[in-house]
Amino acid sequence: MKLCRFDASKLGIVEGAHVRDVTKAKAVLPQLQWPLPHGDVLISHLPEVIAEIARIAASCPLIPLADVRFDCPVANPSKIFGAAFNYSDHEAEVLADPGISQGHIVKPVSELGLFLKAGTALIGPSEEVIQRFPDRRNDHEIELVAVIGKTGSCIPRDQAMEYVAGYMVGLDMTVRGPQFQCMRKSVDTYAVAGPWLVTADEIADPHDLDLSVTVNGQVRQASNTRYLKLRIPELIEFASSYYTLYPGDLIYTGTPAGVGPVLAGDEMHAVVDKVGDMRIRVRAIATA
Ligand code: MN
Repeated sequence: MKLCRFDASKLGIVEGAHVRDVTKAKAVLPQLQWPLPHGDVLISHLPEVIAEIARIAASCPLIPLADVRFDCPVANPSKIFGAAFNYSDHEAEVLADPGISQGHIVKPVSELGLFLKAGTALIGPSEEVIQRFPDRRNDHEIELVAVIGKTGSCIPRDQAMEYVAGYMVGLDMTVRGPQFQCMRKSVDTYAVAGPWLVTADEIADPHDLDLSVTVNGQVRQASNTRYLKLRIPELIEFASSYYTLYPGDLIYTGTPAGVGPVLAGDEMHAVVDKVGDMRIRVRAIATA
C-alpha cells in the first residue's frame, strides 16, 4: 500500500494515477491528551488504519494525483536519524574534495555513528526547500528512508526488519561546513521525505533499489541501495543500542556519490525505484 498525507490533514492511498481519499479512516486514531506518547500516532496505529481503509476504501472518492499536494506522511517522528558516509563512493568523493567536507570529520559510519536531524526540518514535496544561507554551499543528498513501525530498544539485526513499517524517498539537504550535523542538516525544510509511505510488504528487497536525483533535468546522483555499507538491519541495531525507537522514527540511510549544490530556482527530482518519486523546488528565504 502507498499511504499518503495530502492537503495538510487528509489521508489517502495511491492507486495508479489517483489518490483515494480515505480520510475517514482517521476515525480509528485515538483522541490524545497531554502528555502525548512518543512517536507518530498514525504509524503507531498503522495495522488498525490499514484494516479500516480496507473496509471503507470502495466508497471513498478518487482524486487525480495532479490535484493533491503531498505532505510528509509521517507528521510527528520522535527522531530522524542520518547515516554519514554509508556509501564508499560518497566517502571517497568527500575525502577527495575539500569543498564538500569543509573541515568536518570524515570517518566510516561504523566509527562516527548516526546523527539526528530536527523534526522541525521535515517536509513533504508540497513544500519547498528554503535556503537560509545562500552564500554557503547547500547540497542535495538522495537517500532511501526507512520508517520504524513499532517501539523497540536493543534490537538485534536479525529481528530488525520486523520493525520497519515502510519506506519513503528522502533528500537529506545539507549546508556544507565544519558545524555539527544537527545545525547544518537540521535547517527548516532540510529533511524532505515522501511523497508517500510504501508499506514494507511491497518492497521485497530494500537493498536492491535504484535511487537518483536530477537537478533541472541533469542527473547528479544515480546508484543502488545494494552499495549501502551498513544496511537497514545494522542501522536499526546500531541506533536502537543507544535510543529506544518509536513508531514513525525515520532513518535516512545515507547517500551515494554525486552530491552537489543547489541554488534558488532549481528543481530537484528525487527517485527511488519501487518507492516513488517527487519534485521539489529550492528558493531563498524571504528577507525583510
Ligand atoms: Mn545524508
